[in-house]
Amino acid sequence: MSISQQLATISQQIQQYSRQADRPIEAVKLLAVSKTKPVSAIQEAIAAGQRCFGENYVQEGVEKIRHFADPNLEWHFIGLLQSNKTRVVAEHFDWVQTVDRAKIAQRLNEQRPDHLPPLNVLIQINISDEASKSGITPAQMFELAEQIQQCPRLTLRGLMAIPKPESEPARQKIALAAMQALFTQLQARYAEVDTLSMGMSDDMQAAIECGSTMVRIGTAIFGARR
Ligand SMILES: *Cc1c(COP(=O)(O)O)cnc(C)c1O
Repeated sequence: MSISQQLATISQQIQQYSRQADRPIEAVKLLAVSKTKPVSAIQEAIAAGQRCFGENYVQEGVEKIRHFADPNLEWHFIGLLQSNKTRVVAEHFDWVQTVDRAKIAQRLNEQRPDHLPPLNVLIQINISDEASKSGITPAQMFELAEQIQQCPRLTLRGLMAIPKPESEPARQKIALAAMQALFTQLQARYAEVDTLSMGMSDDMQAAIECGSTMVRIGTAIFGARR
């Protein structure tokens, strides 16, 4: 299938799962994860109407952003962010989904150029408590949220998680429902919080049932990565 056909299929699934979960069809955004994929693939997705893209690697992402130089596109950094790479991320991306410490938030805040709108950020939660994964514990959420709130060049938009893979929807929903509960708590405190980024190819339906507002899909749109 072509990229535009794959995008259409995913969009239909998002709509169907949203309807089944009694959620409005526009409640869930699709982030097309284009890491390692060439600009020609992204161009195909743009031609099919896709506007939001996720990139994991700073240099690669920035090259793509510069290549398209299109203010209608929205670029999300979704990879591991080292503090020595924050400047170029702050200068180019629209969103950072993987903020997991105050130092990163403060650097992004200082380095976000004045001519750009505030950088949208999500706090990454290590919801399955995996030693190998980045993200903070749920108990640390409000402390980091408060630190982000002190940063005028950042806008706290919500939470992101990469739960441990589970094949059973009932098991997937343990972590996803825990994220939904945290998100509800955060939303009650911060007016601009509107984004819960969770759900990939294998847990998209369960994530939508648990209130995800943004699913991140790579392979099912662009094909396998080498
Ligand atoms: C790569 C990646 C995805 C997409 O993964 P696929 O299996 O290709 O759909 C989603 N979220 C994050 C954080 C990723 O790094």
